[in-house]
Amino acid sequence: MRGIYLMLMLTVVSGLAVSVMSRSEAVSAIQVEEKRVAITFDDGPNPDYTGELLEGLKERGVLATFFLLGVEIEKYPELVEQMYEEGHLIGTHSYQHVNLCNLTDEKAIEQVVKTTELIEGLTGECPLFIRPPFGSWKKNLDYETTMIEVLWDVDPLDWNTGNTGVVVKRVLKCVEDGDIILLHDASQSSVDAALQIIDQLQKEGYVFVTVYELVLN
Ligand code: ZN
Repeated sequence: MRGIYLMLMLTVVSGLAVSVMSRSEAVSAIQVEEKRVAITFDDGPNPDYTGELLEGLKERGVLATFFLLGVEIEKYPELVEQMYEEGHLIGTHSYQHVNLCNLTDEKAIEQVVKTTELIEGLTGECPLFIRPPFGSWKKNLDYETTMIEVLWDVDPLDWNTGNTGVVVKRVLKCVEDGDIILLHDASQSSVDAALQIIDQLQKEGYVFVTVYELVLN
């Protein structure tokens, strides 16, 4: 009887080992197949739309990246604090939404530094990333400002249409693993589109990460 008991125990233990192995294999298979995307919002914080967007992101467990304007940060600091507390990544857009290439280096640096100081004052962290307005940036400013420039892969021109369905369709048509999506938390149609895009991409197995995770990991 004892022999049979031992045999049974061994069978159970080896069975467990097999099932543990299969589980870890399954987990690594999922990791290999994970599709990642970063959703980003420019021009905020916006008193009318950022709060609703943050609520929608929280409900969906999504972390986004916000590229903020200094003049708006000064007006709505509590929204910046909320973004930070909720785990979103905060970057710089510029102070006044100007084309930095049309300025002297000194003035361009001032636009960046003024904004990063405002963000650092509210969050305690100096931002690492800049999305320059119009994607217009001079390479030497990388060194002068010690910022990493972040552009985008998918731009549905949400600011130009005001039509939620059009924005959603434009993004879903071309988004791929590893992409950065550009939107603006500056209109109801953009916020609605962002949340619909997230719902659909989550169904398709996409995981939303911040620009930091996408670029540096
Ligand atoms: Zn902008």
